[in-house]
Amino acid sequence: MSRQTKPLKVAVMGGTFDPVHYGHLVTAEAVRGEFGINHVLFVPSGRPPHKKLQQVSDAEHRYLMTVFATLTNPYFEVSRVDIDREGKSYTIDTLRALRQQYGDDTELYFITGADAIAEIMSWKSAEELLCLSEFVAATRPGYQLDARLEQWFAEHGKKLHTLQVPAMAISSTDIRNRVKAGKSIRYLVPEAVEHYIHKNRLYLDA
Ligand code: ATP
Ligand code: MG
Repeated sequence: MSRQTKPLKVAVMGGTFDPVHYGHLVTAEAVRGEFGINHVLFVPSGRPPHKKLQQVSDAEHRYLMTVFATLTNPYFEVSRVDIDREGKSYTIDTLRALRQQYGDDTELYFITGADAIAEIMSWKSAEELLCLSEFVAATRPGYQLDARLEQWFAEHGKKLHTLQVPAMAISSTDIRNRVKAGKSIRYLVPEAVEHYIHKNRLYLDA
C-alpha cells in the first residue's frame, strides 16, 4: 500500500511590522496549531501601498526586528520576497511568488487581522487571491466580522477561516506612540525588538 504524504502547509503573515509585536507572534502560533501548519512565513512589506513611504521605517530595520522576534520559534521564518521586489507591495504579487516557489501541492494560508481582512475585497486582484490561498482572520473574542465578507467568500465557493486571539489589542501604532512618549513597551514586543528599537532610536519623532 502506498503511503500518502500530507501536503505541506505554509502560513503567510504579511505586514509592515513597524515594529513586529506579540499580537503578530501569538496569532501566527495559534494559526500554526489550529491548522497543522508546517512553516509560518513572516513577510515584511517593501513599500506598503496604503502607507506613506516617509511614515514607514526603513525595510531593513523592519526585516531585522522580524528576524529577531521569530528566532526562537523553529516553525517561524522571515521572507525577503516583498522587500527585494521593486515597487509597491501587493499581496497578490506576494502570493503569486510564493505559489511559484512552493509549487501547486503546497497549501497556503494567508493570516490577517480583522482590520486587514475587512479591506480584502478592495485589494488588487481580490478574486485571484482567493484561488491562491486560504484566508484566516484573527478576531478579538466577542468581535463579529462583517457578514458581507463571509458572504463574499461563500459566493466564490470559499470559506473564511476565523480564529479568536486575545492579544488582538496590541498594535504597532500604539507601540510607536509609546516610544515617542517615553513609555515602556516591555512585554508588548520581544526583548530583542525592544532593545533594537532603543539602540537605533526608532520612533522618537514618529
Ligand atoms: P499599524 O498599527 O502600524 O497598522 P499593526 O499592529 O496593525 O500596525 P501590521 O504590520 O499593520 O501591524 O499588521 C500586519 C498584520 O497583522 C495585519 O493583517 C494585521 O491585521 C495583523 N495584526 C495586527 N495587530 C494584530 C494583533 N494584535 N493580533 C493579530 N493580528 C494583528
Ligand atoms: Mg495595521
